[in-house]
Amino acid sequence: MGDSRVDSIDRQPSPLCAPPLAPPVPRSLCTDCGLSRTSTPKLCGSACQFIRPDYPALETRTHGRARDPARPDEVHFGPFRRMLRASLARPRDGAQWAGITTRIAERLLESGAVDAVLTIAPDPDDRWRPVPVLVTRVQGMAACRGMRMGYAPLLALLEPALAQGFKRLAVIGIPCQVHALRAVERTLGLERLYVIGTPCSDNTTTENFHRFLALLADDPSTITYLEFRADYHVELRFSDGRKKRIPFLQLPISQLPPDFFPLTCRTCVDYTNVLADLTVGYMGGEGEQWLLVRNERGEELVALLGQELVARAPGSAGKRQGPVRGFLENTRRAAGGLPLRRMPAWLRPLVGWLMPRVGPRGLEFARARVEMKAVETILHLRRHAPRRLRSMVPDHVWTLVAPYGLSPGEGEKR
Ligand SMILES: Cc1cc2nc3c(=O)[nH]c(=O)nc-3n(C[C@H](O)[C@H](O)[C@H](O)COP(=O)(O)OP(=O)(O)OC[C@H]3O[C@@H](n4cnc5c(N)ncnc54)[C@H](O)[C@@H]3O)c2cc1C
Ligand code: SF4
Ligand code: SF4
Repeated sequence: MGDSRVDSIDRQPSPLCAPPLAPPVPRSLCTDCGLSRTSTPKLCGSACQFIRPDYPALETRTHGRARDPARPDEVHFGPFRRMLRASLARPRDGAQWAGITTRIAERLLESGAVDAVLTIAPDPDDRWRPVPVLVTRVQGMAACRGMRMGYAPLLALLEPALAQGFKRLAVIGIPCQVHALRAVERTLGLERLYVIGTPCSDNTTTENFHRFLALLADDPSTITYLEFRADYHVELRFSDGRKKRIPFLQLPISQLPPDFFPLTCRTCVDYTNVLADLTVGYMGGEGEQWLLVRNERGEELVALLGQELVARAPGSAGKRQGPVRGFLENTRRAAGGLPLRRMPAWLRPLVGWLMPRVGPRGLEFARARVEMKAVETILHLRRHAPRRLRSMVPDHVWTLVAPYGLSPGEGEKR
């Protein structure tokens, strides 16, 4: 990557830059978080989420304690001090939701709390392809708003950042990137590190994602926004300003190949970014954003927004057990190569109408999604990489799947 990726907003030095990257070291289960592209690729062995993660140790190092099964929701969502349902008084155009993530990073730069923000911008030639960037001025953050599908070697920029003398950094990342970051944090010699994490699920390669878009619209190149909303609809936005909402049940999922989602993302054990200082998502937000403030630094990040943040306690309604059981059954069939149990076409609009009204909502929706992810992890690892179960699956995942009759077999647990 050269200067063509540098967005020059004015005549001052560019507010964001995308330094050239070394090639990755090929590995079997890898989302190219960028660590293998640094001068210490061997660190992958101890830092990778897919090799031998130790969540209790990293949670304790990051938050001062591991998740506490006695505290409501920590087995599901990881350690946190408080949760919020939130928006911005002035939501930002181009953001995935209100733009809380970007606005916090802007405030960090504005207030001089950090020298640079490591995050992801869109590739100038493909808005869906993520490119890691170093942002040093507030003006650079707007270009990073929104969600890209694909893997971006974010951590490859740690060394270029240190080489420029940046000692106070903020990193915006998805869970597999943040896991590796936390594992190597102490080797970086930083004065200060703020980690803003977003939840992540069902990521895939940018190439695969383009195939999915092609099934959703006649001219997929005009799709500028896509989100799986907590009201059981996918929202699409188009370059001419049109919006379209498709109920989950009507999505052309059956037309996707079985390996559409890589094994990494089908077996990822951290949905809610438990090692971030602050998680900014939407799952528990019922149409707004969902914040998990995990530690003192997370409180600092929220405080930076002051009156700009409009927040209240998250709600919770409905029952998750039925939908999670249905998901388990379908995942079992799919993993065994059997056809999915599909609802008759005539019933889908009715159920699509009912789900946002009677299905799990708010925190219960978030719990349901975390449990579905845990179920998926166990079933797919059993089928595709059974020897990895023992090292890759933390105890809390077994706790989440236990009510659904899944328990560790011989040699499956540490
Ligand atoms: C692949 C993927 C799946 C997600 N799934 C869920 C989910 O199931 N539930 C949920 O609650 N939230 C999910 N999120 C997070 C959600 O899409 C929003 O990013 C989050 O709610 C923050 O919204 P915002 O308006 O504050 O973000 P914005 O202010 O618009 O900022 C978004 C930030 O995300 C970064 N980003 C964009 N794409 C990527 C990428 N591919 N890799 C790393 N960073 C990226 C951008 O650089 C930017 O800093 C997912 C994000 C991704 C990338
Ligand atoms: S630490 Fe990152 S680069 Fe290394 S194997 Fe894991 S995902 Fe890949
Ligand atoms: S689903 Fe998990 S493994 Fe896949 S990109 Fe997201 S955080 Fe990484």
